[in-house]
Amino acid sequence: MEDCIDERKVLNAGLCALVSVNGDDARIAQRARTSFRNNQKETSELNDANLIDYIMRHHHDTPFEFCGAEFYMVMPIFVARQMVRHRTAAINEESLRYVEARDECWVPSPEECKTQSVVNKQGSSSDLVKNPNDIIRTIESANTGAKESYNYLLEKGLSKELARSVLPLGQYTAWYWTANLRNIFHLLNLRMDEHAQYQIRVYANAMYEMLRPHFPVACSAFDNHVLNAITFSADEWNSLKFGFDMVNCQIEREALKHANILNMRKTRVKEFADKLGEKWSE
Ligand SMILES: Cc1cc2nc3c(=O)[nH]c(=O)nc-3n(C[C@H](O)[C@H](O)[C@H](O)COP(=O)(O)OP(=O)(O)OC[C@H]3O[C@@H](n4cnc5c(N)ncnc54)[C@H](O)[C@@H]3O)c2cc1C
Repeated sequence: MEDCIDERKVLNAGLCALVSVNGDDARIAQRARTSFRNNQKETSELNDANLIDYIMRHHHDTPFEFCGAEFYMVMPIFVARQMVRHRTAAINEESLRYVEARDECWVPSPEECKTQSVVNKQGSSSDLVKNPNDIIRTIESANTGAKESYNYLLEKGLSKELARSVLPLGQYTAWYWTANLRNIFHLLNLRMDEHAQYQIRVYANAMYEMLRPHFPVACSAFDNHVLNAITFSADEWNSLKFGFDMVNCQIEREALKHANILNMRKTRVKEFADKLGEKWSE
């Protein structure tokens, strides 16, 4: 791997390294300003921050496409199969047609050994299996068996591209991965979510942690308007409004007052009032 800016060890033998960063918060704001033809305007960090916050919350996302980052990642094949679904990234992966498989395979920590969830049919529950050490030993022994078969096939002269067929999904692979910031945020929103599998979430968390110092304003807008935001569907919202009316308790006005107390900017309070269907006056 070439020199990197930052790196995090992930899982039992994985790595997530930030190799290069393209752009910064100022560039995002500058690209957004193109819309009103005042790229030359004297600006301040506060103006930039307000503008970035605005485009994030209104999904005017193209200015984020002018920035990006490149990562070097070493991860189990089952994590790579999830990452590769994010089609807007460019990837160069090491090829097991050219090189022999790495020694490392994924082995869970005892805390990762969760039972099948009954509610979420594709996920793990929060409960640990009864005997995690037995689970770990079984996975290690399956990995060792697969590796022995792989090495045997290579010794017998079988080509690497065919011998790899016996390797497990926990086999580590490595790649360079790059995308623009808009698509990175999209990936992070999906893969840092608690519904995402833990073993990809730790890579997404590592990516975000390393990215944040390079785009502090964009990341804070992303935290507020995307990652930690909650949206309501029309029927949910109608039910809520019905609830508000039923108790007739001025919740909307109280919410607006609170927004003022939180020091939200006037434009934000006005947008909030619009969402609540309230008339707003300064
Ligand atoms: C918790 C979770 C569970 C999942 N479970 C499954 C599963 O069971 N089975 C499964 O197959 N997948 C599953 N996925 C993968 C999921 O369906 C998406 O493939 C993945 O999240 C990538 O999302 P994306 O297509 O939005 O991202 P990207 O491919 O990065 O695309 C980004 C955006 O670009 C646009 N775009 C890209 N390509 C096209 C295109 N060809 N046409 C139109 N618009 C395009 C879309 O707006 C898209 O949102 C799961 C994902 C998550 C997060």
